[in-house]
Amino acid sequence: MEREAYTRKEIGERDGWECGHCLTPVPREADPRDPRAPQVDHITAVVQGGADTRDNVTISHRYCNADRWGLGRRCTPAQAGERLARAVVVYEARRGAAR
Ligand SMILES: [Zn+2]
Repeated sequence: MEREAYTRKEIGERDGWECGHCLTPVPREADPRDPRAPQVDHITAVVQGGADTRDNVTISHRYCNADRWGLGRRCTPAQAGERLARAVVVYEARRGAAR
């Protein structure tokens, strides 16, 4: 598989810290458990033969990356944004309950 060395910060800056799925801002310093936490996502999945190169990655929210419906291929950016917003509400409620 083709591979390049890149960092999350580099991809985030290149993409203007805008999620490739829901097209809303990605906070750089989010808690890793936060659904909005930044992750590098492969546009064509590595298991489907996608390369691990800058051309094939986008900065994304953790939730948008993990959400198999929210990959931007099966729903619109607006729908991905709505799904993320719901995940954030659940996360904040859980975090509030844990205090
Ligand atoms: Zn997103």
